[in-house]
Amino acid sequence: MSKPRVSLVRCSTYDLEAVEAAICQALEPFGGMSAFVQPGQRVLLKPNLLRAVPPEKAATTHPAIVAAVARLVFEAGGQPFVVESSGGPFIARWMSAVYKATGMTWASEVSGVPLNEDFRSANVPHPEGALLHRLDVVHPLTEADVVINLPKFKTHNLVGLTLAVKNLFGLIPGTTKVAYHSKLQDRSLFCEGLLDIYTYVKPALNIMDAIIGMEGEGPSGGDPREMGLLLASPDGLAMDTVCAALVSLEPTAVLTTRRAVARGLTSGRLEDIEIVGEELEAVRIADFRMGIEMPIDPGLAKGPLRAILQRVSSGEALEGHRRPGLGARLSRWLGNQMVAAPHAGPKCIGCGFCARHCPVNAITIVNRKAVMDLSKCIRCYCCHELCPETAVELRKPWLGRLLSRG
Ligand code: SF4
Ligand code: SF4
Repeated sequence: MSKPRVSLVRCSTYDLEAVEAAICQALEPFGGMSAFVQPGQRVLLKPNLLRAVPPEKAATTHPAIVAAVARLVFEAGGQPFVVESSGGPFIARWMSAVYKATGMTWASEVSGVPLNEDFRSANVPHPEGALLHRLDVVHPLTEADVVINLPKFKTHNLVGLTLAVKNLFGLIPGTTKVAYHSKLQDRSLFCEGLLDIYTYVKPALNIMDAIIGMEGEGPSGGDPREMGLLLASPDGLAMDTVCAALVSLEPTAVLTTRRAVARGLTSGRLEDIEIVGEELEAVRIADFRMGIEMPIDPGLAKGPLRAILQRVSSGEALEGHRRPGLGARLSRWLGNQMVAAPHAGPKCIGCGFCARHCPVNAITIVNRKAVMDLSKCIRCYCCHELCPETAVELRKPWLGRLLSRG
């Protein structure tokens, strides 16, 4: 069987012409955009539009990537359209502010690609799903012939890095995302759900915006990091494996990849992937800063204790992740002694947005400040991700600090 291929090219600018040339170069080993798009096909472009922030914050896929991909889809005879459901409601007024702030309006003007205006949801069957046999998805997905996934390279405190697999969570409409967090509370279960979404959507092509990524406290409160790279692959899992290696991480430190390996969807091994274009070693970033809440590498522990700590820090129950019971409760308790907890910092203005999006109603507003009930909190970090003031701070308990890498 041939190895999945991931194309890796340098690109250090968001100049539209330069980005388009770099994407063409990245797609050349696969036969160009026409290898993925047939004339007349409706092609859904899925950028990461986390919330209404400008492209300079590096929290969202840059509009030059969206515009360049749209142009190439038009050239191949396809009909591209941009679809995303940001954090917050999936409604016209909300998404129109997101389109404007993130530069999608500009991308639409320069390329002619329409921005989605259909804010309905659809409930679809997914018989091959491991956990989710039906999915609530944005309705436009059901009308697409082809999906092109356009993730942004960012840290993510829940899964490690937000890459190709995690990006597709934005095809779950609006506040339904909160319900998924509520249903899949342990992070390993949540990652299983993300894999079900990935296997349902089956993007034909993934193009990663790693020109300027985000390091530190992503996916919204981190710092822009110049990486100067674009990646392309029809295999999002292989792309995620290469992305982890790019920043010197074990691929399975990204929890979606860890669960995908456990499920047999990928090997998670670099030697099983053909990287075309740049040599990985030539572009590897040794000093990329991860978020505070990386899954723990319990380097101090040995043998079975090490395996146990790795499991609980990844949200896996000790007695098997699908069986609730004593092991699951013990795992949750021990995990909470190791993983970071959210607190509203001094920037909090008491707007209540986090409280409305907390999947377990663990947040109340007291004296115009958010207060998190950590006994209820499932450490989904939605409050940290969505706070418009980036006021939510993550603090790691002593056991987590003791055991965590670095
Ligand atoms: S933490 Fe952020 S979202 Fe929550 S109330 Fe404070 S400012 Fe609003
Ligand atoms: S308090 Fe924050 S991290 Fe905890 S469950 Fe609510 S949204 Fe998630």
